Amino acid sequence: MTTNRTICDNCGLCAEVCYNGARELLGREMTVAQVMKEIERDVPFFDQSQGGVTFSGGEPLMQRRFLAEALKACRAHDIHTVVDTSGFASWEVFESIRSDVNLFLYDLKSMDDERHSQYTGVSNQLILENLEKLSAVGAKCVVRIPLIPGVNDDGENLRASGKFLAELKNLVAVDLMGYHEIARGKYESLGMEYRLPETKAPSAESMQQAARILESFGLKVKVS
Ligand code: SF4
Repeated sequence: MTTNRTICDNCGLCAEVCYNGARELLGREMTVAQVMKEIERDVPFFDQSQGGVTFSGGEPLMQRRFLAEALKACRAHDIHTVVDTSGFASWEVFESIRSDVNLFLYDLKSMDDERHSQYTGVSNQLILENLEKLSAVGAKCVVRIPLIPGVNDDGENLRASGKFLAELKNLVAVDLMGYHEIARGKYESLGMEYRLPETKAPSAESMQQAARILESFGLKVKVS
């Protein structure tokens, strides 16, 4: 099964006619009302488990108007909301949604701007500025650091991260997450190059060592 991605426009017709289900079109368009209908079915579970809705992705801020509307609808139903973001959006976008967000899950990949650009394609300046601003205006944040061997697991980066995060006022915790290769299959199925082919998951010991460095700055660290 091959796809010429230079001419495929994701129309989905091949998935419709493939009776063996070998072709699959992922994702569908929905209105906020349709999404809320799905969410409302789970409200009894949220009430029992103190749960709520997490807007994740991809990057939910890429669909800012939909997100803002959906967050408002959740607020109207008194549903707890979390936004999981890379932080790479204009401050205006954060400003427009922050009063309807109970908690931000905010990625911090590297304090080194050059290395951040090398691996993500963008500078970390806007991301760090937005996090400082969110903290200053009282937004609750859990910062998530994906620990990637050879990319951001060195002592220098962890100390710089710890120093920066220790200055934030409304930081709930730091979630240290070990790199995994779950995305590799997705890249392959999309015909995209996976740019960390040799990288393996960090050992439990290096996760603990990284956690200790962050904790030495007074941070509350959860290792996942
Ligand atoms: S989605 Fe399938 S049918 Fe549509 S252009 Fe791509 S390959 Fe062709």
